[in-house]
Parts: sequence; C-alpha cells; structure tokens
Amino acid sequence: MRIDLHTHSNRSDGTDTVPGLIAHAREAGLDAIALTDHDTTDGWAEGRAAAQETGIGFVPGIEISCKLAYTSVHLLAYLPDPTHQGLADELARVRASRNGRMPAVVERLNEIGLDISTNDVLAQATGTPSVGRPHVADALVAAGIVADRTEAFDKYLADGRPGHVQRYAVEPTRAIELVRDAGGVPVIAHPWGRGSRRVLTADVIAGLTAYGLGGLEADHQDHSPADRAALRAIAADNGLIVTGSSDHHGLGKTDHDLGVNTTDPEQFEALLELARTNAANAAASGARPPEALLP
Ligand code: AMP
Ligand code: FE
Ligand code: FE
Ligand code: ZN
Repeated sequence: MRIDLHTHSNRSDGTDTVPGLIAHAREAGLDAIALTDHDTTDGWAEGRAAAQETGIGFVPGIEISCKLAYTSVHLLAYLPDPTHQGLADELARVRASRNGRMPAVVERLNEIGLDISTNDVLAQATGTPSVGRPHVADALVAAGIVADRTEAFDKYLADGRPGHVQRYAVEPTRAIELVRDAGGVPVIAHPWGRGSRRVLTADVIAGLTAYGLGGLEADHQDHSPADRAALRAIAADNGLIVTGSSDHHGLGKTDHDLGVNTTDPEQFEALLELARTNAANAAASGARPPEALLP
C-alpha cells in the first residue's frame, strides 16, 4: 500500500484541479491520498467523489497556517468535522487575512519597480477561496519577471524580502485543540522545514503532545536523512504517529512528485484508529467528523 498524506490542489496553491490530482495519484501508483489544501475544505466533496470513481482511498484534510514565536508552522488536520464552529471561524480568519493583505503586497512590489497588478494576481488564483503568495509568484512568472515560484520567493516574497507582508495565523496549541474538538487528528507538517526547526524543539513538541498532537510528518523533502531519524526518535519518545508525504503542489513545486515520500501502512492504520477515538470523544459535544474512504 502506497499512501501519500499531504497534497494540494488549485483550491489552494497547487496547480492540479481536484479530479486532476486524483487521476495523477492513480498514475503515480498510489493507493490512497489525503487532500490537504491550505486553510480550506473546499475540495473535499469533489475529491471523495473522484477517488471513489478512480478506486483509490481518500482522506479529507487541511493544512492549517499557524505561527509560533513569529515563525510559520503548518498543522495538518485529518478528518475533522468541517462544520465545527471554532475551527471554521479560525480558517475563515486566516483566509480573510491572506486575501486582505494582497493589495499591500502588490503595492510593495510596485514600489520596487515591478509592474504587476492585483488583477494579475487574481488571474492566477481562479479555483481558490484564498489568494496567497504562491499566486503572486505565479503572476511574477507570467509577467516574465522571474523564472519560477522559488525565484519569486527567494527574491521578493519570503520573510524579510520586500514583498513580504505579515498576516494572521493560528497559535499551534489552539489549532491542535480545535482539530481534536472537531474529532480530527493533528499532525505537524514538515516540522523542520524552512524556519520552523528553531521553534519546534523536542521540548516544544512534547508540550504540544500534551494538547493532543497526534503525529509528526518526518518523511518530507525539506528533511535530510538525519532530520528524519531525529524526528522519528522524538515521535517515539512521545508516542506520536510518523507520516511521510510528498506535499505535492502540481507544477508549483519541483521535487515534490506524488508519492516521493509515503506513509507506512501501520502508521496509517494508527492514524485512522486515533481518528476513531477523537471522533468518538468529539461526538459527545455534537461533532460529526467524516470518515476516510478506504482503498
Ligand atoms: P501565504 O499563505 O500567502 O503566506 O503563502 C504561504 C505558502 O507559500 C506556503 O504555504 C507555501 O505553500 C508557499 N511557500 C512559502 N515559502 C515558500 C518558498 N520559499 N518557496 C516556495 N513556496 C513557498
Ligand atoms: Fe503551499
Ligand atoms: Fe506546508
Ligand atoms: Zn503543504
């Protein structure tokens, strides 16, 4: 069984449509995928239907934008009730803040002499409720200013670059509690990717476990073999599930092909078991989490 638990469609900043993503997953020989678009559940219904038709497993998920000590941290949420009010409110707040900062981002880029407009950015974000930096990057590529998203982030959009404008993100402890209250399983995405290694120490991860953290995404392209081994050891110390995923973004991210990392079937089984436990606990307060579509 080949299972990829972290993928994006054009409902956030991937370039595949949802059915296109499912078709590619099958072509890549995957048996099951999770759809984890940033801060939205918009693709879930279409994803489940396409997966059912294609005959692969489907796990509805979200990648929630969090912030810890001014540093971006991403939390994967598997199988939470999307109608849970607290969770839905936080996701809406993140999306509103991401969309709301777009004119400021464009203005800053104009100030340094780059000729792009808000409309150019919106033209790159047709399928999504949430317009973010990747869409600005795509507009810069379309305008011939940079070659690809990576160059756009490195020169203009990464933290500390001229086009970077802060936005709202959720406290990880709050996001973990909300996901658990909604009957889902919270897993930290690429814990030691980009800047987050500094803030996600072994002690901090142990602290988050006390809030209900369920797992760590150890196998990710941002992690060296040594990082992966160290994260597995931290997971073992805390009784956490270990996942592995591609973080596929279609053409939006190179070296992140579907299935490039996968999740061990036993760990997947443990994740589904924890989802059942969290769902049963959350049902007491009225949550109705979805079930995974198994292959
Ligand atoms: P935003 O939500 O608008 O702040 O954009 C954040 C998203 O941009 C992340 O979730 C990633 O998908 C993407 N991203 C962040 N940093 C980079 C980078 N250095 N290169 C490529 N994509 C990035
Ligand atoms: Fe992304
Ligand atoms: Fe991420
Ligand atoms: Zn991702």
